[in-house]
Amino acid sequence: MSVHLEVIKQHLIDPEICIRCNTCEETCPVGAITHDGKNYVVNAELCNLCMACVSPCPTGAIDNWRQIRKDDAYSVDEQYTWEELPKQTTIATSVEQGEAAPKTDEGGGTDGVEGGIEVDTVLGSTLPPWSAARPYVNIYTHKAPITATVVGNYRLTAETSESDVHHIVLDFGQMPFPVLEGQSIAVLPPGATAEGRAHHARQYSIASARDGERRGYNNLSLTVKRVVSDAQGQARGGVCSNYLCDLKKGDTVQVIGPFGSSFLMPNHPNSHLLMICTGTGSAPMRAMTEYRRRRRLKGATGKLMLFFGARTREELPYFGPLMNLPKDFIDVNLAFSRTQGQPKKYVQDLMRERAEEVAGMLRDENTYIYVCGLKGMEEGVLQALADIANQSGQPWEPLWKKLKQLGRLHLETY
Ligand code: NAP
Repeated sequence: MSVHLEVIKQHLIDPEICIRCNTCEETCPVGAITHDGKNYVVNAELCNLCMACVSPCPTGAIDNWRQIRKDDAYSVDEQYTWEELPKQTTIATSVEQGEAAPKTDEGGGTDGVEGGIEVDTVLGSTLPPWSAARPYVNIYTHKAPITATVVGNYRLTAETSESDVHHIVLDFGQMPFPVLEGQSIAVLPPGATAEGRAHHARQYSIASARDGERRGYNNLSLTVKRVVSDAQGQARGGVCSNYLCDLKKGDTVQVIGPFGSSFLMPNHPNSHLLMICTGTGSAPMRAMTEYRRRRRLKGATGKLMLFFGARTREELPYFGPLMNLPKDFIDVNLAFSRTQGQPKKYVQDLMRERAEEVAGMLRDENTYIYVCGLKGMEEGVLQALADIANQSGQPWEPLWKKLKQLGRLHLETY
């Protein structure tokens, strides 16, 4: 007698590739993805295979599937203990012959799923701009990282300020490491956790243009803030940020990546960039601005508008170089939240002050919007965009949908 056993396609995250960036947990519309201090995992009871999390994942760690009997599905607790994914096992043969069980599939999670599913719970685009260059991703992995050499490490913030932000330049020598503005890399910090396990990789946005921090060189830069306390404000040094900020010229670093295939800049010359960032979230904006500055000489004509928030002028990374950029090249708006004697200003406040110009950019089909920085800014910035759009006769809901569908609204917040 044959017994009908339900076979499911269980969605899993590869702990060896995952860089713990939290994108999947934020994207999942049904709350199926959670994490502990070690792994990001998918609850099989909640996951509805909607695929919303798959394309935003910068590494592809999310795109793993195992055919398994429903009763045997890997629990969340079991997944938390994994160092690597289990192999696909043979499913018990009690499933009737001819029954439409899912195909065995270790990598192609998109099988049988319509491309371009519309997921309204996702706040930004999961697609790149149509004219973006094609990115390379995952060239170097945990198992085969690349060694980079530190060729520069400079403090960006004033010595007197509490915030210690560094501009770190890494060189890849003769090894290929192709990147685009908006992509990120991850660093493998040396040493081990208290439990004796290797530290997880830490992700950083690339702050330089595709043709190098120094043009024509095989190098890139990062913007790293030294972490001195945890989320609860207790004194605790960040494992990787302190390691990076303390590096000396000539030191070597283990790097994996590059990552990211949607937070990319448009390449058509008349495209406009509306960039909104806080603190070290300025890294990708610096990369895009620098690339456009270099390309401008070759005829790029689009507008650049930047809203950049920091506590004070002394804490704003790249303040000097930013102020030296020609006014007819980039419209710079700085929001300082803790300048003595002045009212607290956030980027969204300045956007409202410049509502007319922002509305003009929203009206133009060639405008691409980038938001990067603190998680908390996301809501305020989207609300400001919504208000500015609505007040200028551009109903926000359909515009928002269009921006997302056309790869014109990109959010990267932590
Ligand atoms: P920060 O100095 O803590 O904050 C920058 C500014 O944002 C401050 O003026 C702050 O004001 C303001 N702010 C706080 N809440 C806000 C809100 N709800 N809306 C608008 N502005 C708000 O920034 P940070 O420490 O450099 O952190 C930047 C973030 O970017 C981090 O979360 C980091 O993970 C992320 N990031 C970094 C990289 C990278 O490559 N390093 C890349 C992408 C993203 P007050 O504090 O005075 O309220």
